[in-house]
Amino acid sequence: MLGVNIGIDLGTTSVVVYVEGKGLILSEPTAVAYNTESGKLIAIGKKAKKMQGKNPSSIRVVLPMSEGVISDFSATRHIVSYFVKRICGNMVFKPNLLVCLPATVTGLEKRTLLDLAITSGAGRACLIEEPLAAALGAGVEIDKPKGTMVVDIGGGTTDIAVITLGSVAISKTVRVAGNAWDESIIRYLRNEKALIVGSTTAEMVKNTIGCAYLHCKQDKMIIKGKDYVSGLPKSAKIAADETYLAMRENLEHICSGIISVLESTPPELAGDLMESGIILTGGGALLRGIDSLIADKTGVKTHIAEDPLTCVVRGMGRALSDYKYLERCGFYYKTAEEVKGYKE
Ligand code: ADP
Ligand code: MG
Repeated sequence: MLGVNIGIDLGTTSVVVYVEGKGLILSEPTAVAYNTESGKLIAIGKKAKKMQGKNPSSIRVVLPMSEGVISDFSATRHIVSYFVKRICGNMVFKPNLLVCLPATVTGLEKRTLLDLAITSGAGRACLIEEPLAAALGAGVEIDKPKGTMVVDIGGGTTDIAVITLGSVAISKTVRVAGNAWDESIIRYLRNEKALIVGSTTAEMVKNTIGCAYLHCKQDKMIIKGKDYVSGLPKSAKIAADETYLAMRENLEHICSGIISVLESTPPELAGDLMESGIILTGGGALLRGIDSLIADKTGVKTHIAEDPLTCVVRGMGRALSDYKYLERCGFYYKTAEEVKGYKE
């Protein structure tokens, strides 16, 4: 195939881009900023995300994937075409774009996403389900008749899937992940310490001292915000154990999602899972103790993929470099004409 091969992981939090021969070249927030009145695009990625929460009413910041589905197609197209242009500049041939999508999207959404890739400047486009890409990134041979469970805890959603023979056998999306943990920390601080903080501070607390079990190493942090009653600036201390208490319900929710997928897994595949275990990917896999919590609740050994934040895109890199392998697993690049006639 002519044209450079590009892999794009459209995450709820960030867009990660891989170019064959170059590797992982960029990771930017999935955000776009527009002028409210003229509708003109002002910024994409990091710049747009920085404006969030600090934007005047004349600027609107859109996070088009924040719910785990594409809620704003034109904003998503702006992001994809911006990165395609940035990488390809004035190359003669249009690139081949491999885009990863949540395992639970419908046939219609797939067609729309293919269309989006083509109208963003791709010559050919191909979609791969995120759990398959994640498994590839974790070094799993996905075309084998052997079940593996992948749990990707991202920003907006936790995607749970059992894969075998190059496809997703069972999957479930739980709308609880990193962002929900941040929100529960915000609620905890408001209710227990009368302190109001924004999502950036809550995320920092989670990523620095966050913990998925009680009695973890007693780290503490001083954080700044506003007093709930007086509205004046104030600071308070939060300990690691408290982050667990704040996130407990959300953590349970994720574990129940995993258990329900395990329950509906056919016996032969379930047998494989006892051996292959659960692979955790996505930024949420970095939460301290999340692997032990899941192993405890499910009785299935659980391990964290190497560098979980880039696991999906590295898997896409592996797929990009071995097109034959991708075809063997049932994934084909489609041209603009083929996309027009695409039906699931
Ligand atoms: P997506 O694929 O949905 O864009 P990512 O896999 O990039 O999501 O994960 C982003 C989430 O991971 C965010 O909620 C972020 O706060 C969280 N995260 C990043 N680092 C850590 C950490 N050290 N501990 C806990 N959560 C983390
Ligand atoms: Mg992701």
